[in-house]
Amino acid sequence: MKGSTLHTANVGAADVTALLDAPFLQDLAFLSPDHAAELKAEYRDTLNERGLCTGAVTCYLVKTPKGLALIDSGIGPRKRKGFPTGRLDAALEEAGVRPGDIDLVIHTHLHVDHVGWNTYPNANGHAEIFFPNARFAVQRDEWDYWMAPERLDDPGNVVLRECMLPVREAGRLLLIGPETRFFDTIGFIATPGHTPGHVAVVIGDGPERALIIGDLCHHPFQVTHSDWASPMDVDTELASRTRDKLYDLAADDQLLVMGGHWQHPGWGEVVRVGERREYRPGLRH
Ligand SMILES: [Zn+2]
Repeated sequence: MKGSTLHTANVGAADVTALLDAPFLQDLAFLSPDHAAELKAEYRDTLNERGLCTGAVTCYLVKTPKGLALIDSGIGPRKRKGFPTGRLDAALEEAGVRPGDIDLVIHTHLHVDHVGWNTYPNANGHAEIFFPNARFAVQRDEWDYWMAPERLDDPGNVVLRECMLPVREAGRLLLIGPETRFFDTIGFIATPGHTPGHVAVVIGDGPERALIIGDLCHHPFQVTHSDWASPMDVDTELASRTRDKLYDLAADDQLLVMGGHWQHPGWGEVVRVGERREYRPGLRH
């Protein structure tokens, strides 16, 4: 398509297209307050004049011979605190995909910037499902955590009532475990820590595999400094151990890693340089 900014990676039987819901600027001091000075020195070359680095809210479209899946649904059409309004609708159009073409929406977790396009407010202000033919897959542990009354009733979590409950009411919710597979080529690895039921999505089952890691980390510095904690993680120690496990796997098996908030299109490899793991953006070929 003319002027297209779409990026697609072929992974075994699937094609994965990165869809930009919103670019945004990240503050390394916010991502890891205890290591702000070291981070700003190490990543100096990537910072703008205000000391911020480029991040993104990226959703991944996974086209398989057996169905079309969308991994995470971004910020969405409503204004959310701290984020620009999402543009996933335009990115889908650019990819030649109508909302009705999506068979399955898979959530890595249920934070506000990962479930936003599930619904939109119609003319009466009611939440209408944006993907009219999709089912919505959520890990059971993640669902149970957020549906606890103290979280569901928290005014700060209005996104759950706007974007998740209508899905359940419509009978479209699939509560699953990490052992579930979809379309022969989509599986999961439990990656708890950022949230209790957070998962990485595994694309492919041969030597060519990709990991869509959601918010396992918000910036590639945590590939190297996995224990530099982020206040956004519900359980910081568990999140750190989970990052070690997953990035070791990615390095050992040479997997393509796709981040939910890394500079768009958000994918690359984890390599070992001596004792250190490092992120290398881009595709191998
Ligand atoms: Zn996020």
